[in-house]
Amino acid sequence: ALAAAYQADPQATLVAGATDVGLWVTKGLRTLPHLISVGLVPDLHKIEHTPEGLRIGAAVTYTEAKEPIAALLPDAGEVIRRIGSTQVRNAGTVCGNIGNGSPIGDGPPLLIAAGAELKLRCGDVHRSLPLEEYFLAYGKQDRQPGEFIEAVVIPQPRPGTVFRAYKISKRFDQDISAVLGAFSLVFDEAGRIATARIAFGGMAATPKRAPATEGALQGQFWTDATLKAAQAAMKTDFAPISDMRSSAWYRQTVAVNLLTRLFVETAPEHAGTETRLAGWKEQAHV
Ligand SMILES: Cc1cc2nc3c(=O)[nH]c(=O)nc-3n(C[C@H](O)[C@H](O)[C@H](O)COP(=O)(O)OP(=O)(O)OC[C@H]3O[C@@H](n4cnc5c(N)ncnc54)[C@H](O)[C@@H]3O)c2cc1C
Repeated sequence: ALAAAYQADPQATLVAGATDVGLWVTKGLRTLPHLISVGLVPDLHKIEHTPEGLRIGAAVTYTEAKEPIAALLPDAGEVIRRIGSTQVRNAGTVCGNIGNGSPIGDGPPLLIAAGAELKLRCGDVHRSLPLEEYFLAYGKQDRQPGEFIEAVVIPQPRPGTVFRAYKISKRFDQDISAVLGAFSLVFDEAGRIATARIAFGGMAATPKRAPATEGALQGQFWTDATLKAAQAAMKTDFAPISDMRSSAWYRQTVAVNLLTRLFVETAPEHAGTETRLAGWKEQAHV
């Protein structure tokens, strides 16, 4: 019924938790004459373990998704714990964050680094695409009139995967990110980085991968020399802007420094080094 209703009225505003859409009204003073809510569609309010991975339906809130995501990727759970406030996490959805398409949304870089697939539907036609391909340009996503997000699917991490995500914001809680870096490294049996998926928020007009950095890491042992090469490469991946959250210089510096943090937490020579307060993993689950 939702698919038919939206296809019949593609000009309508889709609304999930309204934690973004609500502000278009209260702050933007816009009138939204026709809303279609995904919030009460039972098919979209499901979290399922499927052969493809953890499938999170479009009506699933952050509060509901946090525990299953944290079980897969503890660092992602920790970032979700810091999204907005309890009220925002109780209403806001993982897929609404994607639908909003903000370059500083916290969900997309996490999900892109994790290799997530987006599930879209228009009428009876379903399609999937790697999440990073959904974000075409600032304010522009790969979505046709009448098409909506059904779910996002996070694959099970491959053996040997190390996943880290770091949210940088002025306040620890209840703040939008200046920069968010998410890193997924898969080590082979010899200890080389077989694959690297790195995605950042706040560094470009869309959530974006770091192909030059990934290339500098892939096939290499995780050593100080590899770190230096990756940091040099990262300077070519992004040309961030200055805005009220931070300057371009700060963003670039912090992004490069997050690679150092990743190295300190995950390189064999630093085995076991923790840069966060004791107990963060337990916190990520509550
Ligand atoms: C106080 C406050 C703090 C916040 N803090 C954070 C933060 O720390 N990090 C962060 O990333 N965000 C934050 N946000 C932003 C917001 O909470 C998130 O982006 C949230 O995930 C949006 O989800 P929603 O369900 O409320 O989306 P909605 O507001 O309902 O919708 C958002 C957009 O997605 C579209 N949409 C919704 N569902 C679909 C669908 N199924 N298919 C296609 N399009 C769809 C809507 O049309 C709209 O364009 C904050 C917001 C507030 C008000």
